[in-house]
Amino acid sequence: MSTENVSEKDEWRDLIEEIKKCRRCPLHQNRTNAVPGEGSVNADIMIIGEAPGANEDLSGRPFVGAAGTLLRKILREIGFDEEKIYITNVVKCRPPGNRKPNKDEIDACSPYLRRQIIYIKPKIIIALGNVAGEWIFREAGLQWDSISRNRGRIYETNLYGMKISVIPSFHPSAVIRGSVDEDILRKDLLLAKSLLENEKKIQRKPLSLYDFLKK
Ligand code: SF4
Repeated sequence: MSTENVSEKDEWRDLIEEIKKCRRCPLHQNRTNAVPGEGSVNADIMIIGEAPGANEDLSGRPFVGAAGTLLRKILREIGFDEEKIYITNVVKCRPPGNRKPNKDEIDACSPYLRRQIIYIKPKIIIALGNVAGEWIFREAGLQWDSISRNRGRIYETNLYGMKISVIPSFHPSAVIRGSVDEDILRKDLLLAKSLLENEKKIQRKPLSLYDFLKK
């Protein structure tokens, strides 16, 4: 059963409605739909990409084009339940021609992603690609180098007062373009999966008599 109470649900619904109606940056001018994100608000894992593409803009859903289909296929193959993950992007509206969002657009949209992270309180954030990796590192006060150098490692961060592990990896569009091997992305997603499983095991560990007496 969900742990959300009614006012929390209202807060989330208001946030999603705000994103859908947002005109804070010029990207609203050409969008068909803003794409707030998709998945469980109780998710342990958040996956953050760069920005919606053409298919996402049309459907209002994140990661549904070729790159998203690949990502979802790998998630299924390695045993992630998509419904227990929350998937979103740094910016919520499609930049024309799928160009990278610029700094002003990212800055204008950032409060939404911050609020989503604070609301969901994920244990792990998987940042796909340079834009997402750089964004989350900046939020955590870490030095970003490049996706090639930072990917595939676990960074223990303190984000908005929460302990969150960040794992950067390549964006699946790099796999589609042929510049990155699919196995590298799979390996990084598997790293997130084993980290989550380990954390759950630690939480389930029974108390020793000593720990019990300390309580
Ligand atoms: S990209 Fe973000 S800030 Fe810009 S209009 Fe869309 S929701 Fe608003």
